[in-house]
Order: sequence, then C-alpha cells, then structure tokens
Amino acid sequence: MATATDHSLRLYDLTFSELEEQLRADEVNPIHTADLWKSLYRLPVNEEGRIDDSRWLPPLKRWWDAKAETVVLDELEECRYVESQEGDTRKMLFRLASGHEIETVVMGYPGRYTACLSSQAGCAMGCVFCATGQMGFDRHLRTGEIVAQVVRARRLAAKMGSGEELRNLVLMGMGEPLHNYDALMKAMEIVTDQRGLSIAASKITISTVGVVPSIRKMADEKRPYHLAVSLHAATDEERTALVPVNSRWPLADLLEACRYYTAETGKRVLIGWTLIAGKNDSPEIAAKVATLLEGMQVHVNLIRLNPTTGYEGTATDDDAAVKFRDVIHEAGIPCTIRQRKGIDVAAGCGQLKAGEQ
Ligand code: SAH
Ligand code: SF4
Repeated sequence: MATATDHSLRLYDLTFSELEEQLRADEVNPIHTADLWKSLYRLPVNEEGRIDDSRWLPPLKRWWDAKAETVVLDELEECRYVESQEGDTRKMLFRLASGHEIETVVMGYPGRYTACLSSQAGCAMGCVFCATGQMGFDRHLRTGEIVAQVVRARRLAAKMGSGEELRNLVLMGMGEPLHNYDALMKAMEIVTDQRGLSIAASKITISTVGVVPSIRKMADEKRPYHLAVSLHAATDEERTALVPVNSRWPLADLLEACRYYTAETGKRVLIGWTLIAGKNDSPEIAAKVATLLEGMQVHVNLIRLNPTTGYEGTATDDDAAVKFRDVIHEAGIPCTIRQRKGIDVAAGCGQLKAGEQ
C-alpha cells in the first residue's frame, strides 16, 4: 500500500457513489464498485492492510495495479493497546499519518460489541474535567480516519471471539463530533451503507457538548442517528465553569435546540451528565435538572467522573449517584447510571493518550 501524499486516493474517504465516480473517471466500468466495496468493508482486511481481491475481475485488478502508487487504505498505526481486567473492554491508541494520536475503544456487552470512536485529534471545547479538553485542539479527523476506526474495531471484535459482531457505535471518544460535522456525517453514511459495514443508523449515537447550530442542522437534515447532549450543570454559571463553550451556546438555546430536534425527528435526546463529587451531584441540583427537562422527551444518563490529572475533581460515590438518579426518576424523567466499563484501562476519553505523555 502506498504512503499517503497530496495525490493519494484515500479509499476510506469515499462514499459508494464517489468510488463509482472514481472508477468511471479512470475508465473502468462502475459495475466493479460493488466488488471493491465488498473487499474494503465486508471481507476481512488483514493486519498489514491487504485486502482480499480473489473475487475481482480483470478490469478491477488492472485498475488496482495501476493505482498501486496512489491508493491508501488505513492510515492508523496502532501504537498502544490495552485490555481491561475482565477482558471485555479494549482500547487502541492510534498514531495518525500527521503524528497526532487518537483512541478507539471496543466494549463487549452480552450479545453485541460497541465501539467508541474519536472525531478529532484533541478538542477545542475545553471542558475542564476532560482529558481531551485539557490537551487542546489539534485537528479534525478526515472521513476516512473515522471510517478506519470502525474497520479496526470490527476486526478487533472479531478477534475477541464471542461470535458477536460490532453493531453499535458511539461518538464519545476524543473530540467534539458536531464540530466536525461534514466529515462525520459522510463517515456515518459510509459505515451504514448496507453493501458494506452495514451498521444500523439506529445503533449509532452522536454525543455533543452542545454545538447548537449543528444540532439544528442534524434535525433539519433528519439524520437517522441518536443524539446525546452532555449537560453536566443546571445553571449557566455552573455550566460555563465546567464547559466553557456554554457562554457561546447557553442552556436556554441548547435546550431549545433539543426540543426542536425532537419536534423535527420524533426522537428523544439522551442527556449525559458527568457526576463530580460536591460539584454537580446534590439532590438539589438533581431537582433543578428535572425542572429544566420537564416536558422534554429525554433520557438522562449519569456517568461518574473518571479523575484526570488536569482537574482536581473526584467521582461521586455510589450512594450519591443513586440519590441523584432517584430524584430525576421520581420527577418522571427516565434516568440511569451508566455501568462503568473497563475503568482499569482508563476508559475516560483521552486518558490513554494523556497517560502516554
Ligand atoms: N465531545 C462530545 C463527545 C466526547 S466526550 C461530548 O462532550 O459529548 C463523551 C462523554 O464523556 C461526554 O459526555 C463527556 O462529558 C464525558 N467525559 C469526558 N471526560 C470525562 C471524565 N473525565 N469522566 C467522565 N466522563 C467524561
Ligand atoms: Fe471536548 Fe467532549 Fe471533552 Fe468537552 S467533554 S472537551 S466537548 S471531548
């Protein structure tokens, strides 16, 4: 496989119809797109990035040989790999061609695997408790770098050997997915293509800190994915202290965008809340959350803080988490405490890379 240059043809960047266009431009009958697509996404790609070309007809083989110098598949170099004690969470740290590093996590649940994907190298949003936020922003990931994480995660899930496949994706790794909207949506189009990876759109959750214009765009475009909004605080003052971009998109605007999203798509919004001891985990704050979310179609998902080196906060204990949940639940809003997966592999986003430095 060629090393990437400005003239490279990065296959994971292309949708099915763009690949058809490419073949057409190279004077190959686009009827061969399906075989190429199948080799990229349905047949196993080996560790060295070689793809199975055994079913290709001569025109496609000739095209591939002629393109050998320019075609690039996967540019993710695995530089670290960690397994949790229980063996059901695995984390890969990838070095990109640009030298930046990103993380992809595969979590095994009964009956399915879920991959947690990164959308950017670093993040510009600066949430104080987040390891990725503490690093600052490096760059947006390209479509192909998001797609390649799914290919790698699927390969890893197959190796984990439970017979289950990778079915679920969450955009909860490094970066703010709705700050990289176009590349992300294109990647989602590629991974949901039924001729290829065929991940169901209904099994994809995009988590955002609250990029209001992009939430509205997702609603207007009727994107079929689930939306999760990371809230963490019930007043603007408290939220801005944890999530600086709240000053740009304050709570009222954010919740209005969530209501709009539900009105346009008929879908509820998953509300993420990272519980930080003594900061945002009291029953009084839970009551405020319930008031704030009253009448909205939401489900609140509580996550206990994974402590990071750049922030002095600690995790809420189990009792306080349960009380917090009960207050919200009793107000009639569905609320669950997310089970901690692979805490021993530093499952919090950005923490593997942070630990590396
Ligand atoms: N940028 C997006 C998606 C990536 S972060 C967002 O913020 O939603 C995914 C989730 O992990 C968010 O809900 C975020 O608040 C949470 N998170 C970040 N750092 C964390 C930490 N140290 N402990 C627990 N949750 C954390
Ligand atoms: Fe970025 Fe999400 Fe981390 Fe905030 S929590 S800094 S938005 S990755």
